[in-house]
Amino acid sequence: MPYLQPFDPWKSPLCTCPPKYTLNPYTGCGHRCIYCYATSFIKNFYSPRPKKDFLKRIKKELTKLPQGALVSLSNSSDPYQPLEKNFQLTKKFLRLIQELNLNLRVLIITKSSLVERDISLLKNLRCAVSITITTFKYWKILEPGSSPAEERVEALKKLKTAGIPTILRLDPIIPEINETEVEEIIKKTADFVDHLITSTYKAKRDSLNRLVKAFPEKAKYLSFLYSKKGEKLSGSYYLPKELRKRIISRVYEIAKMYGLSFATCREGLKEFAFKERCDGSFLIDRFF
Ligand code: SF4
Repeated sequence: MPYLQPFDPWKSPLCTCPPKYTLNPYTGCGHRCIYCYATSFIKNFYSPRPKKDFLKRIKKELTKLPQGALVSLSNSSDPYQPLEKNFQLTKKFLRLIQELNLNLRVLIITKSSLVERDISLLKNLRCAVSITITTFKYWKILEPGSSPAEERVEALKKLKTAGIPTILRLDPIIPEINETEVEEIIKKTADFVDHLITSTYKAKRDSLNRLVKAFPEKAKYLSFLYSKKGEKLSGSYYLPKELRKRIISRVYEIAKMYGLSFATCREGLKEFAFKERCDGSFLIDRFF
């Protein structure tokens, strides 16, 4: 199977992403987020490994991409997870695009401040960087292998200062856990981002089990919401629609207050439909 794949999240009718390719230099992820959905379909997910012959294979595959194609790194792992410090596959990929002078657009999605290392490379590419921040308070529980949220705010600041379009990904919002931090997260990042994308937590069986184990005092409430009151959509357990509307609407109001463009990810809530591309990739065309 080619490493560069058309992005197609289980053919979800709720996905509003533009056509793009997805690329994961690593299989699995060392950030070990307990809410991660990828653990439900990738074996040994928390024992990440580099993709075999990554550069050699990707070099061939890149030549087959159409001009101007959008490549998203990454959707089922983090391109700047701890392994990247040694293997540098993400950096080598970015360098390759530059050396081959390929007309591609790149969208980075990460929870690591390691992305700062590649600012000088990113500056010369048609790219945007989306940094996910979900919590200041529960970082060690929710995303133990990733960079502390404060470092991610700093990374956004540095990227923005370097002239690279930036996106805040406030995803996932988990009721009664990080829901209360939404305003603080937006307030601390608003000056350094050009767009905000958000989403409520969509549970898989295994991720919900990890979550209720980590927050035993919320176990009953979360299990009730997701397993009894919620709905199953495209293979995931969603919160009840009214609750999702309430959560998303609050984020929307705060984003508006800070003048940020706003989109949601696979919520299917028409009232928050965004006319541009939800993932923030529209910024690439606007900036370059
Ligand atoms: S950074 Fe993303 S891919 Fe990695 S564990 Fe967390 S949610 Fe999963």
